[in-house]
Amino acid sequence: MEVRTRFAPSPTGFLHVGGARTALYSWLYARHNNGKFVLRIEDTDRERSTQPAIDAILEAMKWTGLNWDEGPFYQTKRFDRYNQVIDELLEKGLAYKCYCTKEELEKRHAEQVARKEKPRYDGHCRDSQEAHSPDEPYCVRFKNPKEGKVKFHDLVRGDIEFDNAELDDLIIRRTDGTPTYNFCVVIDDWDMKITHVVRGEDHINNTPRQINIYKALGAPIPEFAHVSMILGDDGAKLSKRHGAVSVMQYRDDGYLPEALLNYLVRLGWGHGDQEIFTMDEMINLFGLDAISKSASAFNTEKLKWVNNQYIKSLPPKRVAEELVWQMNHLGIDYSKGPSLEELVTALAERSHTLREMAEQSRYFYEEYEDYDAAAVKKWFKSDSLEALERCKAILEQIPENEWVADKLHPVVEQVGAQMDVKLGKVGMPLRIAVTGRGTSPEIGITMQLIGRERCLKRIDRTMEYLKQKAANQAQQQ
Ligand code: GLU
Repeated sequence: MEVRTRFAPSPTGFLHVGGARTALYSWLYARHNNGKFVLRIEDTDRERSTQPAIDAILEAMKWTGLNWDEGPFYQTKRFDRYNQVIDELLEKGLAYKCYCTKEELEKRHAEQVARKEKPRYDGHCRDSQEAHSPDEPYCVRFKNPKEGKVKFHDLVRGDIEFDNAELDDLIIRRTDGTPTYNFCVVIDDWDMKITHVVRGEDHINNTPRQINIYKALGAPIPEFAHVSMILGDDGAKLSKRHGAVSVMQYRDDGYLPEALLNYLVRLGWGHGDQEIFTMDEMINLFGLDAISKSASAFNTEKLKWVNNQYIKSLPPKRVAEELVWQMNHLGIDYSKGPSLEELVTALAERSHTLREMAEQSRYFYEEYEDYDAAAVKKWFKSDSLEALERCKAILEQIPENEWVADKLHPVVEQVGAQMDVKLGKVGMPLRIAVTGRGTSPEIGITMQLIGRERCLKRIDRTMEYLKQKAANQAQQQ
């Protein structure tokens, strides 16, 4: 039998990391089994569902690469189908019309509470013979079995059972004629031939109700896997106050989708001690049985580490594709300098996020405005001007076509030897001169990427600055 899984978000907001992890597990299970992955938008709650949320979810699914084989299906486009099945259930006596008014329900609810009973629909209309006029409003309730248990084997949590006595007769069609959520899910999963339902553990309580509906319909019951919550590092349910929760916020913050997925797959699933998985490895190794029952805590530091691993190991071309967004976002015109692939190669080691990488890259493309004050204070000394003059004298002799790291790098040593000083006393002023800052990749590659003309100009500019600084100091003394 073909394995068919689905992701069924309610479009009431952006896709958050918990949803993305559920989608990932569902997707991986389909891919692992050469099955199909279906995307369904559960938009029956018309007040809370919005088009921007739908767009945001689709954007996040595309960005993460969790491609779907069928859909997106929209529940709001399937109302005729749901109503058709409800009518069939009514005809077969498996559902009934309920004419209880809001006031009656509230009254009985209050009485139950007063008797310290669990408030639930008391089945008033279930076997009622009362006559009703055709224009009297009613909702439709599902006839839940009154006795016995609903048992199922959850692929993550093991055997679970509920007493039918705990479940009341669920409304499946409201008075206004719209079908309700738990019913639509069953019809969809049935029609879409879903074999494995992977979803958040917050849906466990819906499962027995849904199973009873499957049974009434004579529909095959899918397998269920309820995935635990993601918590913040303080143990509370992950929320905005822990930092980013939206998947696209991670794009904005400079994470690679590959890294985010790798991080999320490990958050609640594992294969030995392995931390880094290629997509193919994830697909090959993934199984629902290895999903952890306990909640997992989101740890941004670890995500950063994973991201850095990916920045270093993915082909620079791939990283560069994602870097474009950051460069555009920061307004850096990257046509005026090294290619993004060269930039990635130079900065990968020192970048935990693409945001950091982009922020560190400005001096490759634009003139820096000012020197980093701390670097100036630490490294610009009385002999820095001489160091720069000597560097410049050598660098000027290197023609454009030989302006490469291997040729540029030894300049620092040469000048260090000429002046008989430590390399830092030459290398650091040179670095500050060409970048404006005290940190950069290795000086040879840095100068190569900045380019000959720009480097020489910046050294001139810095020599001027140092002369001016010396003159000011002389004046003050
Ligand atoms: N629409 C539900 C949600 O977003 C998921 C329901 C399901 O997977 O069955 O939480």
